[in-house]
Amino acid sequence: MTNSRRPAIALLPELVKNQIAAGEVIERPASVVKELLENALDAGASRIQLDLEEGGVALVRIVDDGCGIAPDEIPLAFASHATSKLSDVADLDHIATLGFRGEALASIASVARCRMFSRVRGSPLGAAVEIEGGRMGEIRESGGPEGTRIEVRDLFFNTPARRRFLKATATELGRVLDVVQRLALAQPGVGFVVTHDGRRAFEVEPAMDLRARVRRTFGAELADALAPVEAHDGDTVLAGFVAPPRFARNDTTRQMWFLNGRPLRDKILSRVLKDAYRGFIVDGRQSVAFLSLTMDPAKVDVNVHPAKAEVRFRDERRMFGFLVAQLRAAVSALDMATPGERMVDALSRREGAPAAPRQFTLPAPAWTPAPERTARELPVLVRETPVESFAPEPSSTLLGPRSDELPRSAEVPVRAEPIRGPLLQVGRTYILRGTDDGFEIVDQHALHERLTLEDLKAELARGTVEVQRRLVPELVEVGGAQAELLEPHLEALGKIGLHLSRFGAGTIAVNGVPARLRRPDPAALVHEVVAAIERTGSAPGAEDLLEEILHRTACRSSVMAGDELSELEMRALLARARDNDNSQTCAHGRPTRVRFTLADLEKAFYRR
Ligand code: ADP
Ligand code: MG
Repeated sequence: MTNSRRPAIALLPELVKNQIAAGEVIERPASVVKELLENALDAGASRIQLDLEEGGVALVRIVDDGCGIAPDEIPLAFASHATSKLSDVADLDHIATLGFRGEALASIASVARCRMFSRVRGSPLGAAVEIEGGRMGEIRESGGPEGTRIEVRDLFFNTPARRRFLKATATELGRVLDVVQRLALAQPGVGFVVTHDGRRAFEVEPAMDLRARVRRTFGAELADALAPVEAHDGDTVLAGFVAPPRFARNDTTRQMWFLNGRPLRDKILSRVLKDAYRGFIVDGRQSVAFLSLTMDPAKVDVNVHPAKAEVRFRDERRMFGFLVAQLRAAVSALDMATPGERMVDALSRREGAPAAPRQFTLPAPAWTPAPERTARELPVLVRETPVESFAPEPSSTLLGPRSDELPRSAEVPVRAEPIRGPLLQVGRTYILRGTDDGFEIVDQHALHERLTLEDLKAELARGTVEVQRRLVPELVEVGGAQAELLEPHLEALGKIGLHLSRFGAGTIAVNGVPARLRRPDPAALVHEVVAAIERTGSAPGAEDLLEEILHRTACRSSVMAGDELSELEMRALLARARDNDNSQTCAHGRPTRVRFTLADLEKAFYRR
């Protein structure tokens, strides 16, 4: 091989450098729009007009009323690594603008035909320039309104490989609109008008607040159901809205976070929402929320991603804790009843059943509990408070197989009047009751399951789990390996009211169970615990284990679908629900009630 065949090393021409950089940030019309809108917003614009042709491929034109660019700085604006937004590396630690990399205009101008006109606020005259494939023409003085107008035509005209990756007009337009809408939601106070091929595609006026913008973007049903969130931790402010669980979707596209006006897609923040909605949303579905964070730019690093969509919080743990606590409180306060109107709509569209399972089914255990028998077989049960006390009390409180659990609601302070009006039990599963403007159907099992779980959790948090202690321990055969597995967790289990001890090689003695459990089946509980430990691996965190078992025991001990309830029991159940903020979905995130208003009924009977 001769030396002449070896390619020589050479610096790349400016245009090629910019085209390579463009590969990172400019993928399609939507990325052009994002960069140009960010520039307009950084320039302090209050009204932005965006005109598109062919999904933005033929034309993206953005007109803003921002601060403008001085004629002699125009060449710099188009030079790479030229920016007015930071000057040294220390500035990277507190970025308050949307842009800062100084690459966007250079990149865009290297892959499209651009024109710019700009006039600095208060200046008598502006300047115009054309730049095509990176070559800048002469800068001419020119008249025009204050602010900046940029036209980007024929995207990728000189890079056909990239152009081939563009999708159909409708797809590109959809992506552009998504970008605009996110920014419009992130920036209340700024007006946006978008046209496509001369027709209006989107508009928000500057004065519209976040809820009004959600209404304009996603419709009134969602906007009207949103519940506000407002909280702060020092100078970090959280504000925005959470949507009731019934708006949950299969994707996270309507979880929108804004940080200092910047739309984000961030893993941490999706985890925050997952935690906030845990138990209120069926597994696999995603909540809907619009949330803005305002904080000192020094407390967050936005320079971790070329498109600036991810961030790194300096004190992530604290941030996470603050956000989950605040959002969980807001979510608990939401109205979670499924509006009957939605069912009426679904029926009339003949869409059939909603996606969530309608009939409650337990994950079938091998050892089907026989509730009545088990309850009667427990001869003497003593209530103990607090949990640590094992001294048997005189058997003053005998727990009947059934009569006890529901009226116990009297222990919960009742805020308002008793539940009035007639109640009807349907199919031994649902409770029907009139409301002020319609009626409500309550799933008795789902509701009771949730209440039991909340009670157990509250007792756990107070450290006073009530225990039914058995005078004669029940022995449960589990096998040697399982008993070994269980042993290290016995103390933790004691704290949730499950008093177990090792009794020989493969046997566990059940000495006490949580009093909340309406139909304690000690053998089933022990098997459940062992299964949970096996599922979560060799060394499960105590908290996870407790949560899991709480979850399952709540389910097991609840009023089952199929139980006939007396009038008194129904009233007690509903009164407890009224006093519990978390009762609107069952422990698995399905709703506990469906509500029909008169309006729904009128719709169902075609009266309106
Ligand atoms: P960056 O936004 O990262 O600074 P850009 O390449 O997007 O980099 O823009 C370069 C510079 O041009 C900006 O720093 C800003 O000073 C100026 N500029 C761009 N667009 C506008 C605009 N619409 N109004 C005022 N100034 C602008
Ligand atoms: Mg920019």
